[in-house]
Amino acid sequence: MFDRIAILDWSASGVPKTGKDSIWIGVTNASGTTSQNIATRAGAEAAILTLAQEAVRSGERLLIGADLNFGAPAGLAKHLTGKAEAKALWGWLAERITDDTRNRSNYREVAAEMNARLPGGGPFWGNGSKAEVQGLPRTKPSLPNWLYEHRRCDQQSKAEGLQPKTLWQLAGAGAVGAQSLLGMPMLHRLSAALGADCAVWPFEPIEGKAVVIAEIYAAFIGPDVKAAEARGKLRDSAEVELLSASLWSLGRSGRLGPLFEVEADPTLLREEGWTLGTGHGPALRAAIPASQLPPRLRDDCFAMPQGVAWVPVDDALDRLRAALAPVTGFETMQTAKASGRVLAADCVARRSNPPRPNSAVDGYGFAHAATQSGVNRLPLVVGRAAAGQPFEGAVPAGYAVRILTGAILPEGVDTVVLEEDCAADSASVTFDGPVKLRANTRKAGEDVAEGAVALAAGHRLQPPDLALLSALGIAEVTVHRLLRVGVLSTGDEIIPSPETPALPHQIYDANRPMLLSLISQWGHEAVDLGHAPDRPAVISGKLDRAAREVDVVITSGGASAGDEDHVSRLLREQGTLSSWRIAMKPGRPLALAIWKGIPVIGLPGNPVAALVCALIFGRPALSKLAGGGWSAPLGFTVPAAFTKSKKPGRREYLRARINAEGAAEVFASEGSGRISGLSWADGIVELPDGAAEIAPGAPVRYIPYGSFGLT
Ligand code: AMP
Ligand code: MG
Repeated sequence: MFDRIAILDWSASGVPKTGKDSIWIGVTNASGTTSQNIATRAGAEAAILTLAQEAVRSGERLLIGADLNFGAPAGLAKHLTGKAEAKALWGWLAERITDDTRNRSNYREVAAEMNARLPGGGPFWGNGSKAEVQGLPRTKPSLPNWLYEHRRCDQQSKAEGLQPKTLWQLAGAGAVGAQSLLGMPMLHRLSAALGADCAVWPFEPIEGKAVVIAEIYAAFIGPDVKAAEARGKLRDSAEVELLSASLWSLGRSGRLGPLFEVEADPTLLREEGWTLGTGHGPALRAAIPASQLPPRLRDDCFAMPQGVAWVPVDDALDRLRAALAPVTGFETMQTAKASGRVLAADCVARRSNPPRPNSAVDGYGFAHAATQSGVNRLPLVVGRAAAGQPFEGAVPAGYAVRILTGAILPEGVDTVVLEEDCAADSASVTFDGPVKLRANTRKAGEDVAEGAVALAAGHRLQPPDLALLSALGIAEVTVHRLLRVGVLSTGDEIIPSPETPALPHQIYDANRPMLLSLISQWGHEAVDLGHAPDRPAVISGKLDRAAREVDVVITSGGASAGDEDHVSRLLREQGTLSSWRIAMKPGRPLALAIWKGIPVIGLPGNPVAALVCALIFGRPALSKLAGGGWSAPLGFTVPAAFTKSKKPGRREYLRARINAEGAAEVFASEGSGRISGLSWADGIVELPDGAAEIAPGAPVRYIPYGSFGLT
């Protein structure tokens, strides 16, 4: 449909500005996506005009999407211009707004002029500059009753959980008013300069036009922009690049048409405009090509500075944390099914909890003003207020109404007295005063208010969160896709499964079932990559396949620097191995590499070391890759029930369990081949890096398996 898509992120800056919150233009065509940053509105206007004229000259079709309001809520244009048309408002503003090549403009004065001309007090407010502007309030005034807060398309976006700001608001975080007032004159000049070659949607028919200009709203792809930002991309450039790439790919696959089909009154559309893509957020998001999603981890992300010999555990954790970033995409799913998933976008309350003031107890409700100290006797009105069965009508002052827990407070009731504190008959209720104003009632929104962020992106949903989100009317959540974690065992001596007989020199694969089950318990998708003998060709074939099918691979065995350590040799030769020699026991080097774009975490083969390294390093690493952020296990200080003389220079982890006295016992043998100790234990004791003489009763840090997410 279009040969080129250009997305304009506009700005109201009063000085030339680049970088964050300045003007960006993103362009996608058959050869890819680019973006440029322009310091002034005049410069950007010239650049857009050039793009459009080139399209006309070369016979290409160009769609320009601009992220600003193309119209005002119904009523404004008519009042100012006599015509209920957004394009009339553009002309009106173009005559009055001055905007020079240094971004100095008079939009605040023009807003004040509009306020003065409008009956009932003007709607424009907000002033980000120090100088007062007569007639432009700094805080929100009450809206004249003939104007809406939001245009119809913004009302729809609000109903879908987005938070569009109003044209009326000229300053403050996320405000769009100022840039819209400065943008409409630019659009007016642009469409005039292009004449019959250009159509502004939805005001004019777009068929056969070389240039189509439409309003767009970056929040439609908000979570993807956020993810790009989390990986170091500037928000504005992510917005214009992802939007242009998404619209481009929708167009290529013939799915752009529905975005231009809007069921709304044509007269309303001419006056208010409409944001292209309203109601099509999921389609826009799904169409962002994978190549536009942020690059995966960099090949050198695990590199250690030269000359680092032994890395303390805490340094290694810090380095790992800095090296990793979320690598999973997103999906939208029913709240009720999302337990265990990581939120990819903030959850905003769709309604308050409680939605209305209600009673916290069973009792009698009345107006506090009519009560006094001493004995109160209030006549009862007929009827009652119960949860789900509101009392119709008002309770007159001096009367009381029977009310039950959860019932909305009827009009005239602000206070409730507990049933047990009253004597009542069919006609009246008697209780001792004084009672406290609003006693036994719950305020509307006292738990969470509509519009508040109830849970933030990165939070892993647990069962109580489903209660919260449901109470707030949030039926769907945007979550990270599950992280796919492949597990591969290596070693010539390993027999994949105890279902097969083993010769004396062979051992059964103990690590793979343990690691696969750990990964599932951590809420990821565990993918069994099986076992590879110590043959580089086989290992690399397995890794190649894994790189296409999973997000990260965990291997065990062959990760040291010896003759038979084929995993590390292969990763060194063909990948980007970094062997981290971590000052801990148990454990040998942790092999970290990027193989064809995906991270590979090489654990030691020894099952005791494999488990400890998985718990200490693997768990937080996978959590960060999955979008859930870094996580440290919760430990407890308990008395030791053992004696140990520990040398300085490395951290030690001992298999431990809590005895009947609440003290930590450790497994009799520290031998790292003793798998039975892992089962004997219910957690681990972590001894600090320095020297330690531990006698029974000394405080030690005990971390239960549960703190590592084992169930
Ligand atoms: P490696 O890291 O390959 O040198 O192996 C260290 C020790 O762990 C050797 O005794 C291996 O036999 C043993 N080992 C390696 N992989 C596994 C596995 N998947 N299950 C049980 N033991 C293993
Ligand atoms: Mg081996």
